[in-house]
Amino acid sequence: MERTNRSKLVFTVKNKCRVCYTCVRECPAKAIKIINGQAEVLDERCIGCGNCVKVCSQGAKVFLETKDEVRALLNSNDLVIACVAPSFPAEFTEISDHRILVSLIRKIGFGKVVEVSFGADMVAKEYKKLFNNNGNKTCITSDCPAIVSYIKIYHPEMVSSLAPIVSPMVAITRIAKAKYGENAKIVFIGPCLAKKAESVEVDEILTFKELREMFNEQGLTTKNVEPTEFDPPFSGKGAIFPVSRGLLHTINKSDDISEGNTIVAEGKNNFIAAINEFEKNKIYSQHLELLCCEGCIMGPGMTKPDERYSKRTCISNYVKEKLNNLDVEQWEKDIKEFSNIDLSRTFKVENIKINKPGEEEIAKVLLSMGKKEPKDHLNCRACGYQTCREHAIAIIEGLAESEMCLPYTIEKLHDSINSLNISNENLSTAQQALKQSEKLAHMGQLSAGIAHELNNPLGVITMYSNILKEEAKSDDPIIEDLELIVEQAERCKGIVGGLLNFARKNQVKPSEANIENFTKHSIDSIIKPNNISISFSSEMNDPIAMFDKDQLMQVLTNLEKNAVEAMPNGGELKIFITDTDDEIEINVSDTGTGISKENMDKLFTPFFTTKKPGKGTGLGLPLIYGIVKMHKGQISVQSNDDAEKGETGTNFKIKIPRIINNS
Ligand code: ADP
Ligand code: MG
Repeated sequence: MERTNRSKLVFTVKNKCRVCYTCVRECPAKAIKIINGQAEVLDERCIGCGNCVKVCSQGAKVFLETKDEVRALLNSNDLVIACVAPSFPAEFTEISDHRILVSLIRKIGFGKVVEVSFGADMVAKEYKKLFNNNGNKTCITSDCPAIVSYIKIYHPEMVSSLAPIVSPMVAITRIAKAKYGENAKIVFIGPCLAKKAESVEVDEILTFKELREMFNEQGLTTKNVEPTEFDPPFSGKGAIFPVSRGLLHTINKSDDISEGNTIVAEGKNNFIAAINEFEKNKIYSQHLELLCCEGCIMGPGMTKPDERYSKRTCISNYVKEKLNNLDVEQWEKDIKEFSNIDLSRTFKVENIKINKPGEEEIAKVLLSMGKKEPKDHLNCRACGYQTCREHAIAIIEGLAESEMCLPYTIEKLHDSINSLNISNENLSTAQQALKQSEKLAHMGQLSAGIAHELNNPLGVITMYSNILKEEAKSDDPIIEDLELIVEQAERCKGIVGGLLNFARKNQVKPSEANIENFTKHSIDSIIKPNNISISFSSEMNDPIAMFDKDQLMQVLTNLEKNAVEAMPNGGELKIFITDTDDEIEINVSDTGTGISKENMDKLFTPFFTTKKPGKGTGLGLPLIYGIVKMHKGQISVQSNDDAEKGETGTNFKIKIPRIINNS
């Protein structure tokens, strides 16, 4: 009889789970859900394969332990029989004589120790009969309880294909009770976790791991232990059962490809693929031997998770030795003795309601993960699902999260990095602008002070020089000197005027004008050397804008003058204007020397000039900057001074709002 309420087999150790999704990925039944930052097992979906326990590197998944229940049995007055699974030679590799292990088990308190493999011998006989009588009907072996659960939960329509034969564990239980008394208590000891929920006929189930723990608790070691043999009945070839294809070996059946009537699929991916293909009628075979682990020797109750091939060798060595010493006559007698025991079983479908979501809902979830078209479905399986569609369905069912999609998460990460970079850039531009305006404010104060103080004495110098010039005789050589004084004083006044312009807390006095005509006109007021060609172009939708004409004229002429001065050997000065609904953009570009990288940072600093003394004041660009800012606009520069990288030259771009209100 099956256990009706499958007990909870796997538990999550709170706070150990780091939500790495490994268990979600590795769970063949998709029975793990992420809840509150923990990967929780959904009991109604769990098939008890123990994969999650095996793969969790954090030890956050543990399985049901039943040592206390076994101890209680051993402390009772009943005869307690240990039924040891045939995979024991692969677990207790350090014990070369199996009889030592048998004695250790007796020392814990078991009255009898029998081998489950005799049950396997009996079961194999039943399978042989079934194959002979089953005609062409496919039968799925039912000795792996995880596979049986999987089919019952997820493929109920295939339950009728499960072989109606008990597992070797249940077979030995019935045999042991027949031999040693119906009141005897049975404890199965093996590598399997799913066994803990297989049958109510077996009183308790221990894993090899738990058995070892019991040995340790009682301080039992192999030293000073007298070897004793298993209790009868003794098994034959059934001992090979725990390796994959074990059943085939036991009944001398082969999965030879030329016969084509048996398919063996082991391990979580293969058995699911085989079931799916079988369900879609893609494969036909008389016999599907399915094992959830890669043979019972790889079960979660073993203490060593790997070394599959050396484990197989341990089993075959044990079987070889066993068959060499087998009392065949006695074995046949035993088989005959128990052949009237009923080894049949039935299966009950487990009805868990899995509502299939609609196509629209699936498409919506897929779209939220950036999967618009079939080509976006990478089906990379990083999320743990076979396809993006299956992942989307699991998200709808509340089992999975979109973050489990690696390509989607990486893309999201890239987007975040990009937007972070953009914010960073904006921040540093804003910081630079702030520094610049602070600098300008300081310079402005200083300049205003100096300019104010210098303006008067300069006026006096100019005035007195002119008076002296007028008073001097026309052939007096002093006239030349006086003219020089006046000229230089005028230059100083020019500089001081520039300083005042720059420092002035100017008010913008906007008025409406045609900026196209205005810009064209600005070219007229600069001196154009013959070796420089000047062009003007415009792509404007609406040339009417509001701006301070005096100030913008200063901006344009200063930029144009700088451009001309940057082309001592000739070149091209281009002015291009364009607009949007709200903004005017003016570009002044030249094919001049360009600006070096280190000078780019200094451009708008007052008095920064690379021109010869007397040629430049270094006040043009700071003035432009101030005016553009007062217009609530922006100024930017692009320049190349390296001929190897392409044509040298500079482009100043100014953007100002179409309409400026003077608030
Ligand atoms: P000035 O023209 O008196 O030197 P500006 O503030 O107008 O002062 O310009 C500062 C400096 O910026 C210039 O000396 C020059 O080195 C550089 N500069 C400005 N415009 C250009 C340009 N179009 N091409 C190359 N360098 C330029
Ligand atoms: Mg200049």
